[in-house]
Formats: sequence, structure tokens, C-alpha cells
Amino acid sequence: MKRIAVIGAGVSGLTIAQQLSHKPENEVIVYEKESQPGGLIRCQDVQGNLFHTCGGHVFNSKRQDVLDWFWNRFDQGTEFRKTDRYSVVHMRDELVVPYPIENHIYCFDQSIQEAFYKDLDEIEIEQKKWQPQNFEDFLRLRFGQTLYDCYFQPYNHKVWRRPLNTVPLTWLEGKLPMPTVEEMRYNNQHHIEEKQFVHATFYYEKEKGSQFLANRLAEGLTIRYNSPISSIQTEKDGILVNGERFDNVVFCGNIKQLVSILEGVDVTEFVQPIEALESHGTTAVFCEIDKNPYTWIYLPSDQYKAHRIICTGNFSPKNNAPSLATNRITATVEFTDEIIKEDILRNLQAMPYHPTYLTHHYNQYTYPIQDNGTRAMIQQLKKRLAPSGIYFTGRFADWEYYNMDVAMGAAIDLTRSFFDIV
Ligand SMILES: Cc1cc2nc3c(=O)[nH]c(=O)nc-3n(C[C@H](O)[C@H](O)[C@H](O)COP(=O)(O)OP(=O)(O)OC[C@H]3O[C@@H](n4cnc5c(N)ncnc54)[C@H](O)[C@@H]3O)c2cc1C
Repeated sequence: MKRIAVIGAGVSGLTIAQQLSHKPENEVIVYEKESQPGGLIRCQDVQGNLFHTCGGHVFNSKRQDVLDWFWNRFDQGTEFRKTDRYSVVHMRDELVVPYPIENHIYCFDQSIQEAFYKDLDEIEIEQKKWQPQNFEDFLRLRFGQTLYDCYFQPYNHKVWRRPLNTVPLTWLEGKLPMPTVEEMRYNNQHHIEEKQFVHATFYYEKEKGSQFLANRLAEGLTIRYNSPISSIQTEKDGILVNGERFDNVVFCGNIKQLVSILEGVDVTEFVQPIEALESHGTTAVFCEIDKNPYTWIYLPSDQYKAHRIICTGNFSPKNNAPSLATNRITATVEFTDEIIKEDILRNLQAMPYHPTYLTHHYNQYTYPIQDNGTRAMIQQLKKRLAPSGIYFTGRFADWEYYNMDVAMGAAIDLTRSFFDIV
């Protein structure tokens, strides 16, 4: 038997463990520090309503092998609802513009429309001359100054809480629609909706939200809950995980912790760059809000600090308690980093859709921030650890802006590369 320890029962750890358990010669044990599976996709029941303690997780993928893997474990027809994204930007002046904003310039008044089309003429020439090196330059060069000023700058400033010219570009791929100037002209003329984006159409669980997904992926696995791993030590004939012997370890927690608990492999040169890695947390505030038809509402206004409302009550009717008034739904209001309850309540009062507070949850690690050297450094550390039988993958292990499907894909790739699993 080969004994393999998987650390973390989030999407990455559960995917790895499911993959590895296929081989009868593998004995796989998952360690999870919390009392339930899911990590970032965990949900809670709050007075009969479903609270995503982080975000409002929906599923889809561009990778066929990930879709095949996923739908082998779930029944699409009976367990999921398929929904079209209907997101809007709620502008400072209460104007509501469908997302992505660059396809719906015709919703704005004449002066904004004229300025936008003048910008397009300019950026068409500029784009041929230079490549952006930071997020601010990228947004100006891609969408023009008018949209940058009225939406991209104020919205992203709330999300990133730093000058946008200090935000690198490595994380961007697949995260924003990337229309060309020609496409923006065409889309506006013909009122075209964006369909290429991974979550333009998505699947959502009929009951229990993403906790249902985590619970299903945890089925059949040996998972030790309430078991934080605080020591990984290589020896001549194996690896000790909190003192227990294994042949291999797959770490799916936070890379900052991994380098601090590892003994027996020299990772000294990685300690400082990993300590320096930056990230954001999120305060997810569970609320009742006015009924509306939207999935996500983006909020650029500087009159309050929240940047997005995820209308989870619209994802499945079961997410709302039967006792909820018929003109209300439940939703998650998101704030970057930690915000105290008093401040939350003050902010909610200034927001549209009349949110009333139910509860909130703060996650310290939600958005990794890469710099230009992060990916190369992480790859080097992987190479350093692999000969000892220690591997890692996951959003905060790889310090990557992974969606669930991308995390699943990375986990599947890892088992193919190192464990010979097809
Ligand atoms: C606000 C927000 C919204 C999102 N929305 C979507 C969406 O709609 N669709 C989508 O596809 N993706 C979405 N994502 C991305 C998605 O959440 C992640 O891709 C996915 O959850 C990452 O899973 P993971 O297993 O890599 O990490 P995590 O979920 O962080 O799991 C790590 C697990 O390891 C455990 N752990 C850590 N250290 C230890 C230790 N020492 N010992 C034992 N256990 C340990 C943790 O408790 C946790 O359970 C969103 C992310 C955020 C932040």
C-alpha cells in the first residue's frame, strides 16, 4: 500500500483525494482543520436561508476533462439548475447598466456615449503602439478613459484598495471579457450579450448551494476533521505528518504555512519571498434585500465600501426561507478585507436594494495577489519538494486566482503528472 496524506478538504484537496482513491493500492487520508468539508465554498444555514460564507459559488468550465470529471459525480438534470448570468452595474447615479458595461454604452446619456466612441478611436491607434504593464494601463487602453473614470477605476479601487497601477496583470486571463475595439463597436450597435465568459451560463445546486458539492466530493473518503496539520517532516523512509508516516503528501492549504511547518527539505531561499506574498480577505455579509432579477450586482459608488452583491436567493428558490417576505430575497454583500459590524451596518444603510443584516463572516485569505515573479518562484518550490514526495496545489498553495473548475483541473493535472492517474 502507498499511504498518501492530503491536507485540506477544499475543492482542491477533495478532487485530489477522489482521484487518488481510485487506485486500490493507495490509502488516502485527508486532514481538514475545520469541522466540515468545502474550504472557501462552505455554506451555513441561517434561519432557514442558505449563507455562502464566502462568495456565492457557481460552476462551469471551459475544460472538457474537468466537465467530464465533474458530471460523472453529479446528476446535471436533477441536482443542478442551469442559469444565464444576468449581472448589472449599479452606477453612482442609480443608473443600472447590464454587465459587461462596455457592451451597453447605449444605456448611458448622450455625452458619455459620444466620449466613449471618441475613446475607441484613440485606443485603436494606441493599442498598436504599446502593451500595458499594470492593471490601470490595461483598463485605460482596453476600454478607454470614459469607462475607466465612471466604472473601472472606482469599482476596482474598492476591490483592490491600492493604486491600480501597482496591480500586476498575471491574474487577469479569463477573469474579464477582453473585447477588441471592433467587438465593442459591434456589440453596442447590435445589443449583443457577452457569451464567451466562463460564467455567462452556469450551473448551481438545487439545494444546499456549494456545500452540496463539497459534501458529495467528500463521500467515500477518509477525512479527519478538526485536524490542523502543524508539522511535515521528511525522513529517509517517508514523510511524517503530525508524526504519522506517509509515502506522499499533497498540501492544499496556504503556501505561507507550508514553508513554516516543513522540516528536512531546505527551503530557506523561499521563506522571504513567500512571506512577502500579498493577498486580500473578504467580509461576506448575509442580508435580505429587495427582490430583483439579477445574479450579481457590481457597485462602483463611493458612498459605501461594499463592491458587489451576489443575489444567491435568485440562484435557487430553496436558498430563501419560506418565511421570507415575497418581495425580498437573500444575498451576500461583499466588502474587501475585514470590516467590523458597526461599520457594516452603517454601509448597508447607504446601499441600494435596502439590505438588512442577518450575519457575516470574514475570510482572511480570499484573493491572492501575484507579482511578476510569483509564478516562477512557486514552480521552483514545486521542483524542490517533488523529489521528497511532497506536492502542492490549490488557490492559496499555488497563489493563483483559481475558480473551482480551474482548481479541479490543476488537481487532476497533478495526479496525472505524479501519480500516474489517467
Ligand atoms: C469571493 C469569492 C467568490 C468565488 N466565486 C466562485 C464562483 O462563483 N465559481 C468558482 O468556480 N469559483 C469561485 N471562487 C473560487 C473558489 O472559491 C476556489 O477556486 C476554490 O474554493 C479553491 O479551493 P481550494 O481547495 O484550492 O482552497 P480552499 O477552499 O481555501 O481550501 C483549503 C482547505 O484546506 C484547509 N486547511 C488549510 N490549512 C490546513 C492545515 N494546516 N491542516 C488542515 N487543513 C488545512 C482549509 O480549512 C480549507 O478547507 C470564488 C472565490 C472567492 C474568494
